[in-house]
Order: sequence, then C-alpha cells, then structure tokens
Amino acid sequence: MVVATEEDYYELLGVSRNASQDEIKKAWREAALKYHPDRNKDKEKAEEMFKKVAEAYEVLSDPEKRRMYDTYGKDALKGQNVRMHDFDHMDFREIFEMFGLGDLFGFSTSSSRDYGRDLQVEIEIKLEEVLTGTKKELEFTREEICSACRGTGGDPSEPHRTCPTCGGYGQVEQSRGFGFFMSRVVTPCPRCRGKGILITKQCAKCKGSGRVNQRKHLTVNIPPGVHDSQVLRLRGEGEPGSRGHRGDLHCIIRVKPHPFLVRQGNDLIMELPISFTQAALGDKIEIPTLNDRHTITIPKGSQPGDIIRLRGMGLPDLRTHHRGDLIVRLAVEIPKKLSAKQEELLKQFSATENRTNDSMPTISSFWEKIKQYFSSQ
Ligand SMILES: [Zn+2]
Ligand SMILES: [Zn+2]
Repeated sequence: MVVATEEDYYELLGVSRNASQDEIKKAWREAALKYHPDRNKDKEKAEEMFKKVAEAYEVLSDPEKRRMYDTYGKDALKGQNVRMHDFDHMDFREIFEMFGLGDLFGFSTSSSRDYGRDLQVEIEIKLEEVLTGTKKELEFTREEICSACRGTGGDPSEPHRTCPTCGGYGQVEQSRGFGFFMSRVVTPCPRCRGKGILITKQCAKCKGSGRVNQRKHLTVNIPPGVHDSQVLRLRGEGEPGSRGHRGDLHCIIRVKPHPFLVRQGNDLIMELPISFTQAALGDKIEIPTLNDRHTITIPKGSQPGDIIRLRGMGLPDLRTHHRGDLIVRLAVEIPKKLSAKQEELLKQFSATENRTNDSMPTISSFWEKIKQYFSSQ
C-alpha cells in the first residue's frame, strides 16, 4: 500500500477521535459524494482525495484496525498481518461497490435494484375473524412511477438529450480486474443512471425524482386460522423497481386480545368461575363461545382447575382446517360473605362432613400420610 501523505484519518473524515461507527459511516458517505468524479472539475485531485478517505474509512470502520491506528499510528497498519486494500490500483466503482455505495451513484450491479422496495402494513383482526377468515380493506401510501414523465424525471414538454456517455443505451461496458483476469462487464450508465437520457428540465409533478406517492386501496383475504404476528406476503404489491419489477407487500397480522378467551395454538381457553355449591352439586350452564352459546354440564364433585373439553369448538388450523378445542377450566369461588341463614345451613352441613373417607380424598389421604410418617419414626 502506498501512503501518499501522512494525514490524520479522523481529520480526513472530519470526525472526532471518539466518533461512533454510525458517525464514521455517515461521514464516509458524505465524503464519497463530495469527491465523486462527476461532481468535481479536477477529477484527478478528487480521485486522490477519494482514495485517501476510502483508506481512512477502511481503518476507522474496523474496530481492530482502528485500535492499532489509535495506539501505534499508521506504521502499525503496514505490518504483514494487516489486510488493507490497494486503493491506488482500484477504480472508483470497485471502491464504491466494495463499500456498498453503488446505490449512491446508480451503478450498482446487484440485481436487487431491479426489484422495488417491499412495503409493510399491520392488519388488526378480532379473534372471531380468525375463526371465519375475513377480508380487509387496506389503504396505504405507495411510491409509483410518475405518470407525467413516465419515471424519467424530466419535463415531458422539453426534449430530452440523449446521454453521450452511453449513447442512449443506458448501459456501459467496462473492464474489471487485472491482466489475465480482465473481464468486461455491462453496468447501468453512471451518467444517466441507466435512463439513456439527460434531463434538461425537471418534471414538475415529481420534482425530477420520477416517482410520486399515491394512496392505494387493496382488499386482503385473510384465511381462517391465522396467528398473531404472522406475515401474509402479497407478491408484487410493493413499490416498482428500476425495471418495473415490484417488491412485495408484507401484511403483519395482529390479533386483538379477547375479553374472556385466550388462544393456545388452535385451542381456546376459558377460565370459568363457578360457586362451590355448583362444584359440589353439579350444574348445567350456558356459556358464551366465540360466535355462539353452548350448554355445558359441570359434573358433581368438580374440583378447582378441572377441565371440560369441548372438542372441535376451538379455532381452525390454517392448513388442515381441523378445529381445535374449547377448554373450559373451572375456577371455584368460596363465598366471601354469608347471610345468617347460609351460615346456619353450612354449620349444619359441616357437622355432617366426614374428612376421613373418600368423599374428601385429598384431605383424608394427607392426614393418613402424616399419621404413617410419625408412626414409622
Ligand atoms: Zn415526473
Ligand atoms: Zn447514459
């Protein structure tokens, strides 16, 4: 590597010595624009400066190289274990693309530029709509090719000048590599950015960008069984790319929480509070389901946490369409207050209670264990 002058890397990039990586990256992009050959009269001088800032960026953007430079200065970077690019023997484009700056100048060779940007919207639906599936009307802003100038960015009433660099083809051929490895590649023309024409007067509608924001209405079919955070991808509903290929629209599904049902996979869970007499005596009660009502039987002697499973009354599986279950979990409530009459009745009941037989298996087996424990000591 040839170091032309001993300039300070931080000064070259115009950042402080404790600049963050983001600040360094931003300064580099600004410097790269500033020294772009098309923006400077003295191209040779611009190129020299550009290579200096590229070198500064290569060092400061790499924590290890930056540490060596901070501690020992540039000489440390000339050591054999340090890989540095030979910017003096690279051309502009190679350097731009190496640092991912091709997009700044419109001559990136990556095919991703052919595709427009993906867009993202959130769609909120109710749990009831997960059961049935639904259609949602979306309205969002999308960038479109300007209809006035058809994306050229030039005033349609003004004659365009054919780009002299590419002769109107929008593409240029250039050599890459060295010696035996020399190859010729076709890239979008850097001067006209692949358009083949030079703009003499900007299009008034899009202010020269070739793009305008438009409100877009779209109906989205949401299948039954979708899950919260699931993404529905609508191919080709994103923004148009440089060659018309549109990106995709990603619809993120948000399922609103339900007041008395919780989803667990394709099952629905309901915590059902019942009184201790309903648990002891059994009962038949009507409960609300997601879209209906259903009568369930609480068996005699139900315990807190017991489950009543209503098969096929949950949500449909997205693929198989088989419905999950509605799981009713019993929560037994003991009265917090008793009337005088209730207290009298419960005292009478209590007097009849037998806590040592299988009418109360948990209590009787607990005391049985305690008894055995102490007798074996
Ligand atoms: Zn326009
Ligand atoms: Zn051109």
